[in-house]
Amino acid sequence: MRLKDYIEDRARLFNMGSEFSCPDWCNRVGCKDERLHVSISIIDVVAASLVTGQTASHLFCSHYKIGISPMDGNPWIQRFVLEMKKPCSFLAGKDCGIYGARPITCALFPEAFFLFPEREGGLDKGKFGHYPCLREPPAISEKRRSHIIELMEMARREAFLTEFYFFGFSPFCVDLRNTVMDVMEVSRHVSGNTGDGGRPYEVPHEAFEEILIRRLGRGGYLLEINSKVEGLNSPSGIEALYEIKKWTDSIEASDKDFPYCYEFDEGNRLKMVKRLM
Ligand code: SF4
Repeated sequence: MRLKDYIEDRARLFNMGSEFSCPDWCNRVGCKDERLHVSISIIDVVAASLVTGQTASHLFCSHYKIGISPMDGNPWIQRFVLEMKKPCSFLAGKDCGIYGARPITCALFPEAFFLFPEREGGLDKGKFGHYPCLREPPAISEKRRSHIIELMEMARREAFLTEFYFFGFSPFCVDLRNTVMDVMEVSRHVSGNTGDGGRPYEVPHEAFEEILIRRLGRGGYLLEINSKVEGLNSPSGIEALYEIKKWTDSIEASDKDFPYCYEFDEGNRLKMVKRLM
């Protein structure tokens, strides 16, 4: 199975040349902290399925969730992502239960954050300053640096594949400005606050996420996503994913400057619109 070969190849890079290991005294806070969003790809779901022997669709429901990532820092334009549910239920004591098949994002943490703080969203010391592994930068050799860059490129291509597999389009971003009333309603429940008019009010991430998921559900997209994941329960489905990956890997797409995104229409179906740049 060729996708299995790819998964084994990338796993070989996970620790190659790395001098980082989780400190013994760390309580694996990054695997538990809901504020640390661990993005994953559809390949990570297949990798976990192959190593655990559980079906992709079972793992998808139990361990992963749909999340969002703001485009260019604009919370109203959100990019679809898959994430680990937190606390991660693969964690067994202090060990990752799928270590050799863990997501690339896990394998890159925290080295990539130190190497490319601007690309990785920076290290918010206010939020994550108590992480033992973030106190001192780990030593990163030139060789390791090249492996990290290679893994980051793999992760970028896998993100592209994931969106394409589910929606036939990547980057898959949704403009949520026409859902503002729903977002504010959910925001009130999440934070117990809608602003008093005097102070700037930041809508919680969870409010945008809940509205995206709710609208995807009402539009029938969640059923479609689940059925596509179900397709990965069989070797032929995995093989088909590999064929799609070969095609998406051949496309050089710029995520940042893509001028289109989607918004929900009144029937909660997605329609393409010009993206607010
Ligand atoms: S997959 Fe493993 S390394 Fe990643 S969050 Fe879960 S337990 Fe931690």
